[in-house]
Amino acid sequence: MKLRDDLAELLPAGRVDTSGAVLTQHARGESYDEAVLPDVVVFPEATAEVATVLRYAHRNRVPVTPVGANSSLEGHTVPVRGGISLDLTHMDRILEARPEDLLVVVQPGVTYPRVNERMRRHGLFFPIDPGAHATIGGMVSTNASGTAAVRYGTTGDYVLALEVVTPTGETVRVGNRARKSSSGYDLCALFTGAEGTLGVITEITLRVVGLPEAAAAARVPFPDASHATRFVTQLIQAGVPVARCELIDAGSIRAVNAYSGTAYPEETTVFLEFHGNPAGVDADLAVARETAMTFHAGAFEAGTDPAERERLWQARHTMFFAAGAANPGKRSFVTDVAVPISRLPEAVERALANCGAHGFDANLVGHVGDGNFHLALFLSDDPDEARRAQAVIDDMVDHALSVGGTCTGEHGVGIRKRKYMEREHGASLASMRTIKAALDPHGIMNPGKKLPDVS
Ligand SMILES: Cc1cc2nc3c(=O)[nH]c(=O)nc-3n(C[C@H](O)[C@H](O)[C@H](O)COP(=O)(O)OP(=O)(O)OC[C@H]3O[C@@H](n4cnc5c(N)ncnc54)[C@H](O)[C@@H]3O)c2cc1C
Repeated sequence: MKLRDDLAELLPAGRVDTSGAVLTQHARGESYDEAVLPDVVVFPEATAEVATVLRYAHRNRVPVTPVGANSSLEGHTVPVRGGISLDLTHMDRILEARPEDLLVVVQPGVTYPRVNERMRRHGLFFPIDPGAHATIGGMVSTNASGTAAVRYGTTGDYVLALEVVTPTGETVRVGNRARKSSSGYDLCALFTGAEGTLGVITEITLRVVGLPEAAAAARVPFPDASHATRFVTQLIQAGVPVARCELIDAGSIRAVNAYSGTAYPEETTVFLEFHGNPAGVDADLAVARETAMTFHAGAFEAGTDPAERERLWQARHTMFFAAGAANPGKRSFVTDVAVPISRLPEAVERALANCGAHGFDANLVGHVGDGNFHLALFLSDDPDEARRAQAVIDDMVDHALSVGGTCTGEHGVGIRKRKYMEREHGASLASMRTIKAALDPHGIMNPGKKLPDVS
């Protein structure tokens, strides 16, 4: 095949793979059905190799789909137009740790647990935790966040500088090592969350922060989602510095009990974590306990030592697998929205009611401290079930947009959310298209993602 032979000639040996197993592995991502085989998978080991691939692809109009850990959930990595899947996981070196400047420089294939393993010895960490073993390149490209976003923000808040190979094959560096800058356009922000549609990130300079001196965790069951979400909203509005905050619906706790043999109260449950000094976390726990009781919490279990904290969060950590085990043979359909925090209770209640009305057991997880929640539906091959699931998701998004929210708080657009872009962004979609056309004139970078096709 010409594409394989050309790339094999341009790159060092062993970088190009067309074996069936590797092509299949790169045909789809998590929680998205469509599978399309790439023509080749390339595993670059250096920025210069990425640049060689992109120069070739630009010249020959070959689609390129960057891939990290392939854990994204909206079809981001499906090579819908074939071509090259560019797998960055072999570019996995931590290039420089500078604790004195509170930063670390990494290649895109490094996973966030590895960054934390490396920085722990300096008393530092990168606090964004999306749960799956995602790569930093993938996290920057989706602007991932997760359970700790309520306190620590999103991946984009930690990106100081990037090295990017543009779709025409030039290597550019954007950003700097200063803690702040008012210079030029913010191109770090442009490439953050671009889902690989504007170029390939080959190096990331990340800000890191101090590990907390003390931490406390709590698990709090509530009679229903309304009480649970109103509790969280009240806690955040009162300025209590919650570090992590997750809501799990009663059905998911039931699945966890069946999966792990535990006996947690099968009620909507809020998981909390606080970071600070010992006196501070004790005070935070006291305020949270008092507030929880005013919202009719069934209990308030709390702990401060690491093993106890791990035990308290156990149900949350096993939830995804428990929900899968409760739905054998079915495929998952996972999605997220985010709303202004005051609109969270109604958004969650509406989504749960809609699931019931359409015949689904909801699996709802909310990073509720920042108004973001996820829904996982499990589907058989029945086309009517797929139609009903889509109706639930459409309503969730419609509601989020109608109250000033967004169709995705952290998972990204991928393929599945493109249909909401026009409504969410209106006339500013034209500016996005102008940027895309300027950087990627032949539309080779991750085509069919992020922006709806121009009709
Ligand atoms: C069980 C589970 C739980 C999850 N929980 C969360 C959560 O709580 N919060 C959250 O935010 N996400 C969550 N996710 C989604 C996922 O982990 C994130 O989207 C993550 O950031 C993807 O990283 P990745 O390395 O897997 O990237 P991939 O899935 O490989 O790629 C993601 C996107 O980035 C692009 N890309 C990858 N690397 C590069 C690069 N170097 N340059 C340019 N573009 C690139 C790809 O083309 C694609 O568009 C979850 C996923 C699973 C399976």
